[in-house]
Amino acid sequence: MLPIHHIYPKLAQPGKVVITTHQKPDPDALGSSLALSQVLKALGHTVTVISPTNWAAFLDWMPGAEDVLNFEITREKSTTIINQADWIFCLDFNTLSRTKSLAPIIEQATPAKVLIDHHQQPAVESFDFGISDTTKSSTCEMIYDFILDAGLDAHLTVDVAACLYAGLIGDTGSFRFPAANANVHKMAAGLKATGLKHTKVHEYIYDNFMESRLRFIGHVLTNRMEVYYEFNAALIYVTKNDLLRYDIKTGDTEGLVNYPLSIGGIKMAAICIDRDEERKWSFRSKGNVDVNTFARRFFEGGGHFNAAGGRSSASLEDTVKTFKKVLKENASEFQLI
Ligand code: 5GP
Ligand code: MN
Repeated sequence: MLPIHHIYPKLAQPGKVVITTHQKPDPDALGSSLALSQVLKALGHTVTVISPTNWAAFLDWMPGAEDVLNFEITREKSTTIINQADWIFCLDFNTLSRTKSLAPIIEQATPAKVLIDHHQQPAVESFDFGISDTTKSSTCEMIYDFILDAGLDAHLTVDVAACLYAGLIGDTGSFRFPAANANVHKMAAGLKATGLKHTKVHEYIYDNFMESRLRFIGHVLTNRMEVYYEFNAALIYVTKNDLLRYDIKTGDTEGLVNYPLSIGGIKMAAICIDRDEERKWSFRSKGNVDVNTFARRFFEGGGHFNAAGGRSSASLEDTVKTFKKVLKENASEFQLI
């Protein structure tokens, strides 16, 4: 993988660009994709953003979201566009498997592949050019840097700023996680200078749900949360029936994993959701508890030091049993006790 600056001169020539990101894109994934899309369009490129799956409705306000292709329902069209492209930008993921059924299409595609990502242990062999920087708060911060480094400041519009701000608050927990360093706050100031209405972005993302989602949270916190004080950890599990009963949609479970961390002394929180095709895990931690390694070792996943995800093909009951077992056996290695 060659450093990203090698592509700057090449981008002067308008071409066909595909931008993709991880499945079930979050504010950082979709925000970075749509911000980059707007900038490259302004340079004369023909740009298509392809998401491997659907996304949360609370992201639909993002400028350009209406034109994003959902690969699962546009397989033929998306595959043709990918095969005819000059460039594929891969944002906010470190391994192609994060794009689910899109992965084999990207793997075989001939366009130059560019990675822009901040997750740990990237599969750099899959990409021709790129930048992987785990010290960055978000892929949106990396797109902001890219815009400034490539001398494209003139294209930092208020619409681009809104997309970037969404990813910045998403991945820094609204500026509270350790990654929210001085550069992050400088970036926020740079975005505000475009005329960005930041309160609107917070409202779109955090204050735009259905009543049923709040009732669902009440239900799972009351009936599906287990706290293991002896290991300073907590678990929430969500059954298929819970999802059906409260009509839970993509994005409605986002952030739920953080609730147990608000209990004093709890250093790690996990959530397991029984989705149709797999059991999806999310892990969050405080301080020196490395959930990237935990997810990688026990649940086929990865991510960041304090925020990671994983999966399991086992039943909900069995994967939860595995969690409790590995928690007990590895609590001291993971500095939980
Ligand atoms: P979330 O729990 O919000 O889905 O994900 C937390 C972080 O871990 C995100 O940065 C996400 O991209 C990453 N992540 C989530 N699931 C997986 C996974 O299955 N594999 C890997 N490598 N990373 C994941
Ligand atoms: Mn991210």
